[in-house]
Amino acid sequence: MTLLPFDDRDGWLWLDGSLVPWRDAKLHVLSHGLHYASAVFEGERAYAGNIFRLRDHTQRLINSGRIMNFDIPWTADEIDAACNAVLKANNLTDGYVRPIAWRGSEQLAVSATGTSIHLAIGAWPWPSYFGTNRMQGIRMGEAKWRRPPPETAPVHAKASGLYMIGSLSKLKAEQEGYADAMMLDWRGLVAETTSANIFFVIDGDLHTPVPDCFLDGITRRSVIALAKRNQMKVIERQINPTELSRTTEVFLAGTAAEVTAVREIGPHQFTPNRITETLMKDFDHLVLQSPQEVARAVA
Ligand code: PMP
Repeated sequence: MTLLPFDDRDGWLWLDGSLVPWRDAKLHVLSHGLHYASAVFEGERAYAGNIFRLRDHTQRLINSGRIMNFDIPWTADEIDAACNAVLKANNLTDGYVRPIAWRGSEQLAVSATGTSIHLAIGAWPWPSYFGTNRMQGIRMGEAKWRRPPPETAPVHAKASGLYMIGSLSKLKAEQEGYADAMMLDWRGLVAETTSANIFFVIDGDLHTPVPDCFLDGITRRSVIALAKRNQMKVIERQINPTELSRTTEVFLAGTAAEVTAVREIGPHQFTPNRITETLMKDFDHLVLQSPQEVARAVA
């Protein structure tokens, strides 16, 4: 895997309607999106040539834009086609796809009136986020920063501004030797991690927090569907961090993380076991199905 910086690679990106050479895909430093985080994005994964649940990601991108009070000037069909075109142009069948929409340079003040909306899409090889043995279990710390209440931020948009909290928390966790951090919400309840949703096995059942102030991930929803197909009991509820002491298994679900076991959160230890393994295997199988089969499986 190449470790070159992202601005020093070759290939193709899609920018405002056409494929452009990777090195030429630039924006001006005086862009509203950069200064005021008026940007929304997606993180998608392609497996064997198919972007997993592409239309759901595209819909969320469009919806995130609407929550941020802008319309992306491309239809869902056009965005889907552009994502596929970027993969193809870079000779990728497996990898990560990153669409991002942002407000342009027409003005640089808090007011965003009159700014044009841009869309860029990149794709690159990206093996497993937490290493290849996802059953081994990662070690996580506990973040100091909390997910804000829905009245204070557009918490259901995949909006760049919200990643300030996640990025600070991930950086701190890594400085402390952890792979990631569990984040609480404004009430002190368990929310998610810096870039994935979280599941717990308690008394043999699957429990996961209600996504009322953070992203209801596409992987999360896929895992819930798979669990139900396996006759597992899935309980979406408010989860107190004190419950970690009676939790037996923990795993993460997200596009980057896929399904990844967790073996430690702060002072708590867990042993990845049958439920994590079943859902990980089922998810790994699901992502290789055709888009039609995926749609049927998660319906
Ligand atoms: N929460 C956050 C903060 C994320 O960044 C992500 C990744 N998009 C998720 C949850 C999981 O969402 P998804 O499964 O749709 O990738």
